Amino acid sequence: MKHIAIIGGGASGLMAALFAARTGADVTIYEHNNNVGKKILASGNGRCNIINTTASYEDYAGADPQFVTYALKQLNFYYFEKFCHSIGLVLDIKEDGRCYPLSNEAKSVLIALKSAVSETGVKIITDSKVIAITKHDSRFNVQTEMDKHNYNNVLIATGSEAAPQLGATGDGYTFARAFGHEILPTYPSLVQLHLNSKNHPKMAGVKTVAEVTLFIDNKSYIKVTGDILFAAYGISGLAILDISQRASYALLHKQRVSISLNLLPRYEREELVCVIEKLFASIPKHDAHTALCGLLPAKIVTYLLEDAAITQNTPVSSLNQKDVKKLAHLIGEWEFEVTDTHGFKHAEVSGGGVSTAQINNKTMESKLIEGLYFAGEVIDIVGRRGGYNFNFAWASGMIAGKEMGK
Ligand SMILES: Cc1cc2nc3c(=O)[nH]c(=O)nc-3n(C[C@H](O)[C@H](O)[C@H](O)COP(=O)(O)OP(=O)(O)OC[C@H]3O[C@@H](n4cnc5c(N)ncnc54)[C@H](O)[C@@H]3O)c2cc1C
Repeated sequence: MKHIAIIGGGASGLMAALFAARTGADVTIYEHNNNVGKKILASGNGRCNIINTTASYEDYAGADPQFVTYALKQLNFYYFEKFCHSIGLVLDIKEDGRCYPLSNEAKSVLIALKSAVSETGVKIITDSKVIAITKHDSRFNVQTEMDKHNYNNVLIATGSEAAPQLGATGDGYTFARAFGHEILPTYPSLVQLHLNSKNHPKMAGVKTVAEVTLFIDNKSYIKVTGDILFAAYGISGLAILDISQRASYALLHKQRVSISLNLLPRYEREELVCVIEKLFASIPKHDAHTALCGLLPAKIVTYLLEDAAITQNTPVSSLNQKDVKKLAHLIGEWEFEVTDTHGFKHAEVSGGGVSTAQINNKTMESKLIEGLYFAGEVIDIVGRRGGYNFNFAWASGMIAGKEMGK
């Protein structure tokens, strides 16, 4: 009988354990938290955006995003939906491809997965931190803080450093490095951004919808429309999370990063000039601040006027066309320099990780060490927001599990 150790009881580790155990292998999961699947429980604001029906390599970043293609084909959405039914989980499929458990509760995902894993006889050892993995002849030795055991195969499914409060560690990188694997520099992703401006802290708590353009070394990269939320440290919101992978990667490489906010994306520039002119003409006695509050949140108006060097209480009748154009320009392209991300503690995922060049994407086995496997976020693959990160964790875990059991 094959003896398999899985390091990490997260999404990819649980999936791998299930598929490995179904081949008849003897499987042990080591998890240093007091329970498995903590990120599953915290995911999707407690709802778990479990997969996306439309996933392709274009939804991922890394040195070689096409690495995911084989895994996504093996675990395509239809396969996954059937699999979910087989473990008692019904999915709620949204129009844009995101899927959630029908219960709308992440707990359902963990309950279904954990009970399927337990039924196969997998041993789950919690409160058990793996501190070293070595290989002697053809056997792996897995060492925890308490004891050591030998295995035929080992899967490193330790995830990334994102959200350490949920148990994330960088241990997988240390283990992989010790076996000669290259680790690409890691960086927080799906994360809030820090801004360099004196006014953003004063707008903390203000939420609006904007079109956000990301500039790297002054070149426009991505445009996303969605919620933004000013915060004491900078800016958050779904639109910011959506540009954060590219922004964070650029910051890692010491590039200049900035964002431009279009606060009224429904209007073209000339149209916006007309809208402001009409507004001012209809209320000529109002001051600039009061007048613009008809278009934008009040706190934003305060600092837009400051940046436009227009006194708040100037009557709109005394503003000229140049002032109106200046305001329209700022509303359409309010620029902020991005100095940093809000860090791994607040990130949902991490970019970088174990180089895909040294992993066989059809088996998830190391190309350097026979019998050593990788799955999930520890690999240099990071997905967009929308269920893509779990998608790759399930897919890579399933492949590794099946292969290890062969
Ligand atoms: C707040 C939040 C919300 C998210 N929401 C979504 C979402 O809705 N949809 C989506 O697709 N993705 C989401 N993600 C991302 C998703 O959770 C991860 O991409 C996914 O969990 C990765 O799976 P994994 O198995 O690679 O790692 P993990 O799920 O992180 O599992 C790794 C496990 O290894 C354990 N471990 C680490 N080191 C050791 C060690 N030395 N010894 C023993 N155990 C160890 C950890 O405790 C952990 O349990 C979210 C992430 C966060 C933080």
